[in-house]
Amino acid sequence: MRESCESVLTVRNLKTYFRTPEGIVKAVDDISFELNKGEVLALVGESGCGKSVTASSILGLVKAPPAMVEGSIRFRGRELVGMAAKDYRTIRGKQISMIFQEPMSAFDPLYTVGYQLLEVARAHMPWSDGEAKEKIIDSLRSIHIPEPEKRYGEYPHEMSGGMLQRIMIAMALITSPEIIIADEPTTALDVTIQAQVLNIMQDLQRDYSGSIIFITHDLGTVAEIAHRVHVMYAGKIVEKGPVVELFEEPLHPYTLGLLTSRVKREYKGQDLPFIEGYVPRPNELPDGCRFHPRCPRAMERCRREQPPDFEPASMPGRTVACWLWEGGDAE
Ligand code: SF4
Repeated sequence: MRESCESVLTVRNLKTYFRTPEGIVKAVDDISFELNKGEVLALVGESGCGKSVTASSILGLVKAPPAMVEGSIRFRGRELVGMAAKDYRTIRGKQISMIFQEPMSAFDPLYTVGYQLLEVARAHMPWSDGEAKEKIIDSLRSIHIPEPEKRYGEYPHEMSGGMLQRIMIAMALITSPEIIIADEPTTALDVTIQAQVLNIMQDLQRDYSGSIIFITHDLGTVAEIAHRVHVMYAGKIVEKGPVVELFEEPLHPYTLGLLTSRVKREYKGQDLPFIEGYVPRPNELPDGCRFHPRCPRAMERCRREQPPDFEPASMPGRTVACWLWEGGDAE
């Protein structure tokens, strides 16, 4: 997979709010980013940080009311925010595909997986059924599904979760989409199966010419897959950077916490720092920096004023929303 600077998706000032009896929930609150052709962009953060709502907003799956989606999402020059449902259907599933977290719920138990893949092809591609079946079987083979012809005729319950997840990846590829959004594709799987699916995602990263948004709560899983990482916290993007630099030198205290939490999980028994507390509920966001109740470096100002994005002069391509970086370098 080759990155280029040609943008395929431009998100500007995206806000996705929900009206609830408890008040307005700011699930995604004024985020901006670009997805370039051929790149894998990871959106990382704990549950409830707004990653999946960002994905749903791009796919036009957030329903209004009671949801409100504002800002701009431009795909190949077309504005997606406010697009009519019939126009969205020509994009979603064809030019932008999704790999969901729960493979079991993504398939209808009453139909064979082959039939369900065929339905996707029928909806979006100009192929005859014979041609479509051939391409589906090729696609299954390309992601190392054993005996793809046999699997084509099987029902979802005859397969393991890992096998179904791989078939969902094949399903996302059938239409040769320009963007694939993979929402926690390994989270619902056993650890050993997770490794297999991650390997397939790595193969995809190498062979697929489109772009991928890879959503995960586990910063460690993005190291081998992503080109760039955006870290989300409480509806905001708090840090952006190329994957290697971000791993070598995390700038935001939250990113540092995510990295050290991972180390802590892997090396139980050692006394390493991790992030205390919980992500705030989106209808109870604290003033100032939203991370301040959990931040070991919080200052008085952090409790009052929300930090903007700073771009450290010595680190091109990186941004960090933290007062420690005001003036260009961490204090
Ligand atoms: Fe911590 Fe303050 Fe930076 Fe927020 S702005 S991450 S509270 S130091």
